[in-house]
Amino acid sequence: MTLMKTLYAGLVSVSLALIALPATAQKDDVQIVASFSILGDMVEEVVGELAGVTTIVGPDADAHIYQPSVADARAVAEADVIFVNGLGFETWSDTLITESGTEAVVHVATEGITPIEVDGETDPQAYITELKALDAETRTRLAELPANRRTVVTAHDAFGYLADAYGLTFLAPVGIDTEAEPSARDLAVLIQQLKAEGAAALFVENITSPALVQQISDETGIAIGGRLFSDALSERGGPATSYLAMFQHNLGALLDALGNPTAR
Ligand SMILES: [Zn+2]
Repeated sequence: MTLMKTLYAGLVSVSLALIALPATAQKDDVQIVASFSILGDMVEEVVGELAGVTTIVGPDADAHIYQPSVADARAVAEADVIFVNGLGFETWSDTLITESGTEAVVHVATEGITPIEVDGETDPQAYITELKALDAETRTRLAELPANRRTVVTAHDAFGYLADAYGLTFLAPVGIDTEAEPSARDLAVLIQQLKAEGAAALFVENITSPALVQQISDETGIAIGGRLFSDALSERGGPATSYLAMFQHNLGALLDALGNPTAR
């Protein structure tokens, strides 16, 4: 997921939906469906009280292997606007949308879109300001890490954009899709690489079993530095109930593990 592109797509789509509304519109007049919790949170931040938002794959759940329910099909059928991440993240969404017969406008959040302004009661510019401030803080704090404290291992390949944006290296025994099991050979190659080159820390993820990462820790002697939220927010009461909270949690976990070489 790319942060800003997703948000911009959200602004555009929500604008289109809201423009069509009378000034007396109620929350129930526009129904929006988001494919997973992180995207759902962003859309809610943008639309505020002006639309109802239904999220299909909830907190701590794995969107890659999700199987839609009858209720999901109904929500999609009744939606005015649908947001999906795209890039193959939701393997099930094309079928769900097609078979529901929905007339909703479908937006793929990872497509690059130029932002437009939303007027009315929502204030997405404040949300964008918060996101930009967090991005700047992340850049500053991660820039302080030495070169040999910038490689981490997660259970699956979920942090490519984060790595690219902030100059970190993420290694994983499983690719982008959690459905794939690592082959014994791939796992052995990764473990050899970690023994030879090291890594600053290993991380378990909220959506996948910790067993694989534990095995890598046992075989390499590299400590598990904490838990990262990868493809889903946490349950209510957890540390990552919004996109901003999730990002801050992940940043803190990375800094705790990478900023302190003696904690290995
Ligand atoms: Zn993933």
